[in-house]
Amino acid sequence: MKKYRSLESIKQNIVICEKCNLCNDRKNAVPGKGNYTADIVFIGEAPGKNEDLLGEPFVGIAGKKLDEALKNSGLVRNEIYITNIVKCRPPKNRAPNDAERMMCSDYLENELSIIKPKIICLMGNTAYHSILDGKEISKNHGRLIYKNNRAYFITYHPAAIIYNQKLGKVFDADIKKMVSILQKLNKK
Ligand code: URA
Repeated sequence: MKKYRSLESIKQNIVICEKCNLCNDRKNAVPGKGNYTADIVFIGEAPGKNEDLLGEPFVGIAGKKLDEALKNSGLVRNEIYITNIVKCRPPKNRAPNDAERMMCSDYLENELSIIKPKIICLMGNTAYHSILDGKEISKNHGRLIYKNNRAYFITYHPAAIIYNQKLGKVFDADIKKMVSILQKLNKK
């Protein structure tokens, strides 16, 4: 694995990255963004249209849903860090394929090893599957899983709750649960 010394240098490499074909169609690569000393890192799937235009993660409608859930749990964006499994938008928002996920994985690994968050929140199937080889978010959301000295919290992707009020409530409850787990970890 290539090692980066800082989040800044990861970012500089991402914006000029040409390791896979996703660079051909992008307007902007989308590095992770947020607090470099965050207790929680959120991981989504890949940038969408708005993220590609602005070069920032979760700035579209899924981002609004995430912001609402953060607010309801007492969190704000500038105390967390948000990133994605792949840093460039796949055409027509398809899920990133295995090769693309592999090519991009050094960036994420370095982000996590530099920030060292207390909890890593995996949002949706792509993040859950890529990192924990997990399936069936509907059965596993709300769980905390330890692997290789890291704590992962599983939840839905905020895009999944856009047209589904019921799931929106579940997502909200998951985020609140994760925050209370963090508070307990911080008291230890
Ligand atoms: N969906 C994602 O998975 N990531 C983003 O940055 C935006 C939408």
